[in-house]
Formats: sequence, structure tokens, C-alpha cells
Amino acid sequence: MAHHTTTAVRSLKQRTFTMQQVEEASGMQAGLCLACGAMQECCEPDARKYHCDNCGKSEVCGAEELLLMGRVN
Ligand SMILES: [Zn+2]
Repeated sequence: MAHHTTTAVRSLKQRTFTMQQVEEASGMQAGLCLACGAMQECCEPDARKYHCDNCGKSEVCGAEELLLMGRVN
């Protein structure tokens, strides 16, 4: 009963990226952080929930994954 799973992310407006950002990330083998928006290098295109060196959260997703998740506007 005491256990509570945080689903706060769902209540927040989801961060999206431009196609240019995603293409740039894809070309650099980088991912983008859903929490802070920073680009994270050495990230596979299908990466999900990788650690972000910028904000410390595990919210970095690869370029292809961002497309699949509809995070591109
Ligand atoms: Zn971050």
C-alpha cells in the first residue's frame, strides 16, 4: 500500500524536438534528453532511458526512438 510509483511525467506537457534536431542527433549517433533537451553523444538510435550527463536523469532516447514515440514536431 505504501509503495507509490511516480507517474508525474504523464501529467507534464511532453517535450518534443524538431526534425532538424532529431536528424542532427541521428547523424551524430546521439540521443536527446526528454527531461532537459540536451544532446547526449554515443547513444544508439533505438536507445531508451539512457542517463543524461547534463541533468542526471535517465531520459535520453535515440533519434529513431524519438520518432517512434512521436516526440518530433
Ligand atoms: Zn537531461
